[in-house]
Amino acid sequence: MSKRIDVQNLNVYYGDFLAVEDVNMEVEPRSITALIGPSGCGKSTFLRTLNRMHEVIPGARVEGKALLDGEDLYGASVDPVLVRRHVGMVFQRPNPFPTMSISENVLAGVRLNSKKISKSDAEGIVEQSLRGANLWNEVKDRLDRPGSSLSGGQQQRLCIARAIAVKPDVLLMDEPCSALDPISTLAIEDLMHELKSQYTIVIVTHNMQQAARVSDRTAFFNIAGTGKPGKLIEIDDTS
Ligand code: ADP
Ligand code: ADP
Repeated sequence: MSKRIDVQNLNVYYGDFLAVEDVNMEVEPRSITALIGPSGCGKSTFLRTLNRMHEVIPGARVEGKALLDGEDLYGASVDPVLVRRHVGMVFQRPNPFPTMSISENVLAGVRLNSKKISKSDAEGIVEQSLRGANLWNEVKDRLDRPGSSLSGGQQQRLCIARAIAVKPDVLLMDEPCSALDPISTLAIEDLMHELKSQYTIVIVTHNMQQAARVSDRTAFFNIAGTGKPGKLIEIDDTS
């Protein structure tokens, strides 16, 4: 289910170092927001706070709020493990489990969530997720091959299939095309347009053209302490 993100007065620190300053941002369900800004301005850091991955980084801490459909992600009663399972993340370098089969890669997150899945349910999830990631036709005859047997672009779509298999509320993508060739990049961009009908998507990109092509809105970040310190300085409607 696609949820609304509402970030309020968010600061992120690594120890004493302020990496993200006073970000306020709303992201509507079933929309794509692109984050753009110079290297080191805190885009990845910010993205990680949206699924509480910052908590696995020594010294990292946040101030402020991030609400998912009104529920505070950092609330005392909210389990960070559950957050990570409901807010999917796709990284710059495709990271399928290399020796695990294609189908087991898709199921990896699902198996963490539910103790037992029947064989037929598992097959259904694999097919649905791979179709959702526009990868089914390319891999349906070799679901038992290892994830590492795929091309880079296919591996990235496999990672997207793994992320959507758990039916997340939000899909975060940190430069998902930076390690890919132009054709694979276009395939991922097309896929993002399709995924938008079901998910709230936030993508980090260093590519202005890509931001314009894929996103409904573009949020510009700046480096903390540079006049317009480290925050969202503008939101454009590019749709
Ligand atoms: P971007 O994604 O925009 O390139 P990052 O979020 O990676 O920016 O980094 C923002 C700032 O925080 C940079 O100055 C970076 O050096 C610093 N930083 C990133 N990760 C860590 C970390 N684990 N510990 C300390 N500082 C970090
Ligand atoms: P960059 O360092 O250029 O931002 P990536 O976006 O590929 O490169 O990776 C960002 C960080 O996320 C790296 O520190 C990497 O180790 C970490 N990372 C990659 N995959 C995972 C994962 N599945 N779970 C947790 N951390 C990951």
